[in-house]
Amino acid sequence: MTRSEQLFARARQVMPGGVNSPVRAFRAVGGKPRFIAKGLGSHILDEDGLEYIDYVGSWGPMLFGHSHPDILVAVRERMMSGLSFGAPTALEVEMAEKIISLTPNIEMVRMVNSGTEAVMSAIRLARGATGREKLIKFAGCYHGHSDAMLVGAGSGALTQGEPDSAGVTRGAARDTLLARYNDLASVERLLEANRDEVAAVIVEPVAANMGVVPPQEDFLPGLRRLCDRHGSLLIFDEVITGFRLAAGGAQAYFGVRADLVTYGKIIGGGMPVGAYAGSRRLMEQVAPTGPVYQAGTLSGNPVAMAAGLAQLQLLDSHPTCYTVMETAAQYLAAHLRESAQRHGIPLQVNQVGSLLCPYFTDKPVDCFEAAKASDTKKYAKYFNEMLLRGVYLAPSQFEAMFVSAAHTQRDLAFTVKAADEALQALK
Ligand SMILES: *Cc1c(COP(=O)(O)O)cnc(C)c1O
Repeated sequence: MTRSEQLFARARQVMPGGVNSPVRAFRAVGGKPRFIAKGLGSHILDEDGLEYIDYVGSWGPMLFGHSHPDILVAVRERMMSGLSFGAPTALEVEMAEKIISLTPNIEMVRMVNSGTEAVMSAIRLARGATGREKLIKFAGCYHGHSDAMLVGAGSGALTQGEPDSAGVTRGAARDTLLARYNDLASVERLLEANRDEVAAVIVEPVAANMGVVPPQEDFLPGLRRLCDRHGSLLIFDEVITGFRLAAGGAQAYFGVRADLVTYGKIIGGGMPVGAYAGSRRLMEQVAPTGPVYQAGTLSGNPVAMAAGLAQLQLLDSHPTCYTVMETAAQYLAAHLRESAQRHGIPLQVNQVGSLLCPYFTDKPVDCFEAAKASDTKKYAKYFNEMLLRGVYLAPSQFEAMFVSAAHTQRDLAFTVKAADEALQALK
């Protein structure tokens, strides 16, 4: 038995499925998870000393790769003065100022501890500020595991929400209406049928939890227009896109304004951090200035702020990082398409910025239905062939591949060669 296998056997005795978050268990791809011992730059090393080029990057946070010295030094320095006080610290002010300076259309920020918490709080704020109860979300978009958002990861039906998880009450799911990604008419129908009742439309500006599905040309501007017409707030869930598509996130990348924005993943530089942000008028509705209650014992934790802020500061000294990452992702996408074609394997590769995803299908993937219609068994085989060759991809078809600024030309060439062999093995 390898050390990873031994650890997994022990883990399964003491943690549900042996993991603290389901996708880590490798159930969608078969095989057993690797336990990771350390990471440096674009590479990770498992407990058996096997090395991989990492395209998960902690699910997005590792914009500059693992163990970036600036981030580690910032954490160590802050840590030596104490881990947490439950009282305001200077770093929180700096962090909020930094986020606001990078992002269009936001004036105030509230830090929380995860993406789930950010979305849950933003939704409460949207409901509190509009006095309305219903929400529109899109099938296949993931917004964390709060009750109201665990609807429609399993069905594209444009109906009233049915919970996706045991333990979510019908009451909690009832007010979540499901629309189809890239389908403005589906949103319009719901808004018409629920006049003056929809508090907010929440969307991943690039859907990155059903693989990677880019927004079509008029989708985001169209959502903006529909929300304005119906007095609903538009929430961009930028837990993946924030600081990853561009320093100003999807609002800057696509030039579309949102009323509220949620952050997670990248914003913590590898520490558990989330945030929600918006105009002063909306954000002052939050306690202690307003009636919408939201709090957090460890929110704005100084060590977490030190890591997140150090990463955001790296953007100043690396202004070309987004071009570098996008070029790398385009290179990977182009070579994957070329290899697949040469081997006669139907493959669609969706790519936006540093995010990409190969789907084993010959049809374009523009919504959840289309993503689900791809051959996930083939993806599982592809994943395992890549792992064998030292490339660590997301252990599920419905996740993105994350390129970082630390991936070198050598990494990319190695990946392309491995992918060519893996695709050959799928024939
Ligand atoms: C990961 C994710 C979340 C949830 O964030 P957690 O930190 O896992 O709670 C919410 N929204 C989107 C778009 C995400 O990708």
